[in-house]
Amino acid sequence: MNAERETLNAYRSGYVAIIGKPNVGKSTLLNAYMGQKVAIVSDKPQTTRVRQLGILTRPDAQIIFIDTPGIHKPLHRLGKVMVDIAANCITEADVLVFLVDGATLPKDQDRQIAALIHASSDRPVILALNKCDLLSPDHIEPHLQAYWALLARDTPLPALEQADGSQPAPRYDWIMLSATSGYNRERLLEMIIARLPKGPLYYDQDTLTDRTEREVAAELIREQVLQHVHQEVPHAVAVVVGEWKERSHDKTYISATIYVEKATQKGILIGQGGKMLKSISTGARQAIETMTEKPVFLELWVKVNKNWREKDAELERLGYIGLLK
Ligand code: GDP
Ligand code: MG
Repeated sequence: MNAERETLNAYRSGYVAIIGKPNVGKSTLLNAYMGQKVAIVSDKPQTTRVRQLGILTRPDAQIIFIDTPGIHKPLHRLGKVMVDIAANCITEADVLVFLVDGATLPKDQDRQIAALIHASSDRPVILALNKCDLLSPDHIEPHLQAYWALLARDTPLPALEQADGSQPAPRYDWIMLSATSGYNRERLLEMIIARLPKGPLYYDQDTLTDRTEREVAAELIREQVLQHVHQEVPHAVAVVVGEWKERSHDKTYISATIYVEKATQKGILIGQGGKMLKSISTGARQAIETMTEKPVFLELWVKVNKNWREKDAELERLGYIGLLK
């Protein structure tokens, strides 16, 4: 067998789900691996609403990340849809990363997710304690033990493996990392690859995500809304990109509508003299320009769509339910 053939035979590929409650750093980690924004990040929970793929192609492996919405107690219809999507992702994945906030002890939600993992998958799971930059050394042991007990129950805690491929990868393993500082980020990736099945390239090596530019642009606008407004408004917001036109050879015209549930929310988003909408629009335009590498003219509209989160037809139109299939 020649060397090239051998390399081909060793190629690994598959789906990886990063599972965790809201705000533990799932999108931050995915973005760091992808080297550019494919998911939006904010300090508010439930930022990621729909399933999206981040496709990382390397000489030795193709890793297809499924970014899941945070799992949380469903408060309304949209919440239920999000939990269903997350459960689907667990079933689909070849390797699971159970991402937790290592700086704090487990909460009920972590317990529920561990139970969901047990119920939906028999694949390898890596317990990843994120935010270890915020973790004081004397909390490492108790936090690790507490999360490990949720996930692996009676399996003894293994010493952190070398991930050099010389040992068969255990079903459950763990690592401590910081998605923001980069500590152990590569190490986690190596552990993931070691657990992927041998397989072909599923996607062309230039493909980074299954989302279109329009979908990513809508997410970038929603990210600006989340950064600018607070309390109940962010979760009542959906963004739909309408027109996307090359107006001249060097400028793209984009119009988008921000849907809210109440007139008061619309007032907050527009702000006094339109100031709020103006700064949302400026931030979003800059983010979209970074993505498209072209100047953009962005026109934003705000519309009231009463209780859209409770209506299946609206959830479908805004792209949330179609992703469930
Ligand atoms: P998600 O809801 O799980 O997707 O979480 P995000 O990726 O949106 O991150 C939530 C917040 O945690 C953001 O403010 C991140 O900057 C922050 N964060 C993520 N990873 C780390 C980390 O390793 N250390 C610290 N200190 N903050 C982090
Ligand atoms: Mg997220």
